[in-house]
Amino acid sequence: MKIHKNDTVKIMVGKDKGKTGKILKVFLKNGKVLVENLNVYKKNVRPKKQGEKGQIISVPRPVDVSNVAIICSSCGRAARIGYKVEKGNKMRICKKCKANI
Ligand SMILES: [Zn+2]
Repeated sequence: MKIHKNDTVKIMVGKDKGKTGKILKVFLKNGKVLVENLNVYKKNVRPKKQGEKGQIISVPRPVDVSNVAIICSSCGRAARIGYKVEKGNKMRICKKCKANI
């Protein structure tokens, strides 16, 4: 997976299209990511006990990793990710400005 936790990404689909947020979680199994404060839906929670009020909570839904673009912290643009090997470590670089991501 090219995208890691804590990366800043731009979302390309849905109601939050064009907004940016931080990756909270990466789901490797199904190729989805959870982005902070984005793709949030309201959910009604029924009262569990009698006398309790139901409430509406906001739940972020994971989005497919192909629907987000990583934002390069160096040039600030949606970056295409490349790789380079430095001292035996595989590094991610922005294909536009060549900075490490
Ligand atoms: Zn860049």
